Amino acid sequence: MNMLNQTLLRVDSCVGADLDGWLALGGGEGLTRALDDPAAVITEIANADLRGMGGAGFPTHRKWAPVAAAPDGDKYIICNGNEDEPGTFKDRFLLEHTPHQVIEGALIAAVATRANHVVLYVNPHQPEALAVTREAVQQWRAHRLFAAIEQRLGGLLSLGVVPSSGLYIGGEETAVIASVEGGFPFPRRKPPFPAEQGVHGAPTIVNNTETLAHVPGILRHGAQWYRNLGEGNAAGTKLYSLSGDVLRPGLYELPMGTRLETLIFEHGGGMLQDKEFKAVFTGGPSNTLLTRRDLDVALDFDSVRQRQSRLGTGAMIVVSEGTSIVRKVAEYVSFFAQGSCGQCPPCKGGTFQLMRILNRLDTGRGVRADLDALENLCRILPGSGRCGLIDGAVTVVESSINQFREEYEALLA
Ligand code: SF4
Repeated sequence: MNMLNQTLLRVDSCVGADLDGWLALGGGEGLTRALDDPAAVITEIANADLRGMGGAGFPTHRKWAPVAAAPDGDKYIICNGNEDEPGTFKDRFLLEHTPHQVIEGALIAAVATRANHVVLYVNPHQPEALAVTREAVQQWRAHRLFAAIEQRLGGLLSLGVVPSSGLYIGGEETAVIASVEGGFPFPRRKPPFPAEQGVHGAPTIVNNTETLAHVPGILRHGAQWYRNLGEGNAAGTKLYSLSGDVLRPGLYELPMGTRLETLIFEHGGGMLQDKEFKAVFTGGPSNTLLTRRDLDVALDFDSVRQRQSRLGTGAMIVVSEGTSIVRKVAEYVSFFAQGSCGQCPPCKGGTFQLMRILNRLDTGRGVRADLDALENLCRILPGSGRCGLIDGAVTVVESSINQFREEYEALLA
């Protein structure tokens, strides 16, 4: 796997489950600062402009603040390591290679919000990540810093690993909560939001693994240091999962706001077999496709949103000329159809219908009425589900028709 520019996440160090190795790299300093002044932590995170790295880009401090303000009692911090989207492979890497950094970030969140439960929610289909995280948790429990946290909280802190369902939908934050409670990961309606009513009704924060991995560095070096790592107005760094038709696919830690063409052509080595760049499926892939005219886009949450797409997890699945967009979209919609939990009939039926039509078109058996039906589904399905799965499936279909209609037309029988 290609790795570059590990400014913050220190994934180059690959200390694995060795806590002493992590502490020797300066690990633990952020937690110590948090213990010295817990009330200052959320302000520091806000000043750093840390965003949720799991897809939404929601400001992290806005998840933490309401839980910190809730009265003392049971409160949960959940590190979401379910990661099951096509093209995303950053959280697994973090848990396998630098789990103490992730756990320290979660412990800092616990100190800042006075949470007494920290759960590492890890995908069991990634057995190495699960085993390393379990080992790392044991080491933290036995360390003096853990005792210092309990002293600061004035009570016991539970720190444990819960294997996730391993299902795609199991990564949705309310589904994570249902799963941690021991049930099937059915997404729930919001509100109430997890900060108000999460695990067993207690205030809960669900943060992506990468988000938490950024926290120790911010506390250790300060918000301004973190902001300065980004390009332009963007703060910090980002792990971009680069895959598809590029010469050097891999995981790249780069400044947040790195331009798409820099990622693909400089770090990724350009297109395979010198083919022409065609498009990128971003962050899921459940977002509007980025195309040639977007090569100059800065890969940060706000800039990508201005192009009517979303950075998502930072996954970039690159497609070259000669690759069928319809086939790729059919593959991804099939993934969403299989991943639907089925509790909202329009989602279960809608995703399967989208999949069937796309497969007909892709195999040259489609007619104009199929294309019309596809567009009609894209009009009526959005907003019909309890979570964002159906909207994501529709977005990628609609965007591909808008941007590559000629490919669909050429396939009609
Ligand atoms: Fe389940 Fe789909 Fe409804 Fe989400 S939108 S809750 S995946 S059925």
